Amino acid sequence: MTMGCDLIQVAGLVPFTTIDYPGCLSAVIFCQGCPWACGYCHNPHLQPISLKGSLSWDKTLSLLGERRGFLDAVVFSGGEPLLQRNLGEGMQQIKDLGMKVGIHTAGIYPRKLKEILKYLDWVGMDIKAPFHSYEKITRVRQSGKGPKESAALILQSGVDYEFRTTVHPDLLSSEDLYGVAQELKEMKADTFVLQKFRSNGCGDADLNKTGSFSMDFQLIQYLQESFVNFMIRE
Ligand code: SF4
Repeated sequence: MTMGCDLIQVAGLVPFTTIDYPGCLSAVIFCQGCPWACGYCHNPHLQPISLKGSLSWDKTLSLLGERRGFLDAVVFSGGEPLLQRNLGEGMQQIKDLGMKVGIHTAGIYPRKLKEILKYLDWVGMDIKAPFHSYEKITRVRQSGKGPKESAALILQSGVDYEFRTTVHPDLLSSEDLYGVAQELKEMKADTFVLQKFRSNGCGDADLNKTGSFSMDFQLIQYLQESFVNFMIRE
């Protein structure tokens, strides 16, 4: 067993939310570090991997323990939580509190995801773009390969999930979104969410100026027909 305050690099904790795990009252643990640099990132301060967390894991666990019986779930978010070496052990400790475990991930590390799938009750996975063109969002070459494997692992596992794509008109075209939908349909995904770009937290002034979302009704109809569960998140 790994001991001590550095089990997980925790950069922050939201103690109570109703929107981060569908149908559950949850807390969100923000993990430090992400190897990507998406322009629309809401948490660019969480990207540096070398920074330590600002809240010890022991303190995090103790704060969550005080909410036992009140919280349904804890969501590991970030940053990219799959970066955390001891993620599985941290998740088990949450389960020991009697809470469900969820994750927000971009699926960057499929091997790590495979290792921790057994702890998960729900996955919210970002699909940044068609898998062959991730670079235009992440600014990292060939970054779609890992997420494609991760999406397949999630579907094979039977764990509850949602795939979601954030839409900024300067970054993704309707053709890109048709491409995303087509790839997910081929993988037999049935749950897909379009998330409108939100400027809060985003440090890119140009993206913040031009982020308004105009509805392409043909695309929306196509998405509705393609997925059993489809929604647009404001
Ligand atoms: S993958 Fe997520 S945390 Fe990482 S840079 Fe992109 S939006 Fe930010």
